[in-house]
Amino acid sequence: MTESAAPLVESPSPLGTARAQLAKAVDVLGYDGGLHEMLATPRREITVSIPLRRDDGTIELFTGYRVQHNISRGPGKGGLRYAASVDPDEVRALAMLMTWKCAVVELPYGGAKGGVTIDPRRYSKAELERVTRRYTSEIMPMIGPERDIMAPDIGTDEQTMAWVMDTFSVNRGYTIPAVATGKPLAVGGSLGRLTATSRGVVHTARAALASAGVALSEVRVAVQGFGKVGSHATRFFAEAGATVVAVSDQYGGVQASDGLDVPALLAHVAATGSVVGFAGGDPIDNTTLLALDVDVLVPAAVEGVLDAETAGSVKAAWVVEAANGPTTARADAILADRGIVVVPDILANAGGVVVSYFEWVQANQAYWWTEREIEERLEHRMLEAYAAVAEAARTHGLTLRDAAMMIGVRRVAEAHQIRGLYP
Ligand code: GLU
Repeated sequence: MTESAAPLVESPSPLGTARAQLAKAVDVLGYDGGLHEMLATPRREITVSIPLRRDDGTIELFTGYRVQHNISRGPGKGGLRYAASVDPDEVRALAMLMTWKCAVVELPYGGAKGGVTIDPRRYSKAELERVTRRYTSEIMPMIGPERDIMAPDIGTDEQTMAWVMDTFSVNRGYTIPAVATGKPLAVGGSLGRLTATSRGVVHTARAALASAGVALSEVRVAVQGFGKVGSHATRFFAEAGATVVAVSDQYGGVQASDGLDVPALLAHVAATGSVVGFAGGDPIDNTTLLALDVDVLVPAAVEGVLDAETAGSVKAAWVVEAANGPTTARADAILADRGIVVVPDILANAGGVVVSYFEWVQANQAYWWTEREIEERLEHRMLEAYAAVAEAARTHGLTLRDAAMMIGVRRVAEAHQIRGLYP
């Protein structure tokens, strides 16, 4: 183990967490320092300046990144994040998670991630279009259906992906839908993609509960984060009969110990843009939500919310990670010691990239599947991956995270070993 690849002192930063998780997996797998360092280090990175002419005529400069953490099993794959907090290490961490995630669900992809340090809420749609088009054209040489495929993440959506696809295609002179996934249906998107991450979260939650003989209809759930993933997950949990007792977003949260009226909550969010102020519950803050007396806690927002401080007060028996990297390495150890089952991000939230893969396959074939085909294949793949991880956890006496990491890292290392080192 080399110090640059795995710092001995835990850093609660997303990259520190991702490296600590990798170091554990490398330890279980018995890999040497050289391979460890290869697995810990991004293959390619690009940093670009994005000058934006604002609607009022002034110019503002942003920085954008694309990191291809690993491309040994196939093209890079991963989302594009727009947030004020985006920095190169966060993008590196998220790209690394994509590598293991794609390997765990057996997609023929490596892992990548993009980001622009911008708070999208402060810019008009026209400004965001210009930022997206300039970012895309700056990273053009690195991306493409066989190189690296973009998708939505925090702060980006279907429209962003349509601009990415259009900018790439116009520059090449013909339409190339497979350069981005999570696109609108009208331009080669896939049925089921919008809700795929959330569906996957509920499929894996159901599987984790089932192994303890518990049904979704018996559990109380709290969901932190009400964006693209948390809102649909809340709906699917409620539709499966679970009692959703609390939800929150970046502005605050609401709770009702008898269960929230989820359709009414969704209508409130559609009308106001936030869960805050929903009349069918009492206010609750984001940190208190993590410590609620529930069965299932679903962090569906950002990295690092479960840390050495908050992990000790979690009362849920299951944590299902809809967000990427919500649990620091220290918190992970605390939760494991306390017997709390964590369904890790690289498994629980892989439904999004699974249907991204289906979208890419459909675009490559120029043949579109039915919603039923997509939903069935998604469920099948998520349950297969869950079963393989749970089996490895049982066999080796590991947590679900350590087992998922072991499987993902081993698949990537195998690709390196079989391909050999060039030159
Ligand atoms: N941004 C999503 C994730 O973190 C989806 C990535 C993709 O579909 O490529 O998994």
